[in-house]
Amino acid sequence: MIQISQRIQALSPSATLAMSQKSAELKAAGVDVINMSVGEPDFNTPDFIKEAAKKAVDENYSRYTPVPGYLSLRKAISAKLLRENHVEYAPEQIVVGNGAKQELCNVLLACINPGDEVIIPVPAWVSYVEMVKLAEGVTVEVYAGVEQNFKITPAQLEAAITPKTRMIMLNSPSNPTGSVYSYDELKGLADVLAKYPDIMILADDIYEHINFVDEVHSICEFENVRDRVIIVNGVSKAYAMTGWRIGYMAGPLAVAKAVTKLQGQYTSGASSIAQKAAEAAYDGPQECVEKMRQAFERRRDLIVGLAKEIPGWVTNVPQGAFYLFPEVSSYVGKKYGDREIKSSGDYVMYLLEEAHVACVDGEAFCAPGYMRLSYATSDDNIREAMRRIREASAKLQ
Ligand code: PMP
Ligand code: GLU
Repeated sequence: MIQISQRIQALSPSATLAMSQKSAELKAAGVDVINMSVGEPDFNTPDFIKEAAKKAVDENYSRYTPVPGYLSLRKAISAKLLRENHVEYAPEQIVVGNGAKQELCNVLLACINPGDEVIIPVPAWVSYVEMVKLAEGVTVEVYAGVEQNFKITPAQLEAAITPKTRMIMLNSPSNPTGSVYSYDELKGLADVLAKYPDIMILADDIYEHINFVDEVHSICEFENVRDRVIIVNGVSKAYAMTGWRIGYMAGPLAVAKAVTKLQGQYTSGASSIAQKAAEAAYDGPQECVEKMRQAFERRRDLIVGLAKEIPGWVTNVPQGAFYLFPEVSSYVGKKYGDREIKSSGDYVMYLLEEAHVACVDGEAFCAPGYMRLSYATSDDNIREAMRRIREASAKLQ
């Protein structure tokens, strides 16, 4: 008899990847779908990074890599953290893995005991809750809707803390809301956390370079909590390298050692070629990052303008990442023929089938009533998708 573990049965599939798959299947069947579901840059990896990978192949970087990653890459990451974030992490405090996703999961598995509480400000990226579940932790959601620009306050944070709280996961710029915590807002959270020395802080900074603010900050900058911060970041978003699968964690030595032990037992070191490419990305010219950032800012302005033309949507002005997260519950209860929209999920399915635009239901991000659109696609696609959504939405009465 085949048995699937309770651990995996309890796990939800990734809604972002599932929707993207569905959209790809429709496309393969000849339907002209615009995919705004999955969040990944639509740019190609810059040429100098690809050249570094080709060179690594020719130079026979073909053997197992050290479990925490090549020392040269960890040195490049250490230099990046000093240069850009003004924080010092020795290469020994850094572990490279198969994307930020793996490192987030590794940190949770390495630090969380069954029953420990992990605070997650929501809306939050789909995988956080599931990863906490895998680690047998208990998620404590702290909700901040569009009316507070999706950012939790220090008072909300403090109210969620209990003697069982062991970690908080922060993500700024945020997937799915595009919100960015300012220096002062982060300081407010850090000042609360400073009072609770048993709480570790997992800072998912993967969108740090895709921001439309003067300065982007990470909680790792605050001295009063720094020794408990674990940064997770990677090359996927900043350098358009989602498929290369390189991310890292940087944090206290004990956490880096625990993550290395875990990684050594179940995946080993990340791909040799991809690591050499990532090293080139960090050490090379950074103009490509700014060029892509500018394109995302232009698209942000475009989609925010077009979203205003859709009656009933309530949106913020995202300040980072590449998502729009409108509140769409005014469509709940409306009908087209005998099809009734009973939830934001129904609205998203209706838009897929009626407008051929793939988005993701807010419920996947712990925020039913909302939906997420990724605008990491061409200006033409954005215009056409929003036109279709407007038309399909107008049919709902
Ligand atoms: N964190 C957030 C908030 C993300 O949106 C993503 C992208 N899926 C990741 C982490 C993981 O990125 P990757 O594994 O590609 O480095
Ligand atoms: N960050 C992307 C998203 O949220 C990638 C897909 C995923 O890994 O969830 O759509």
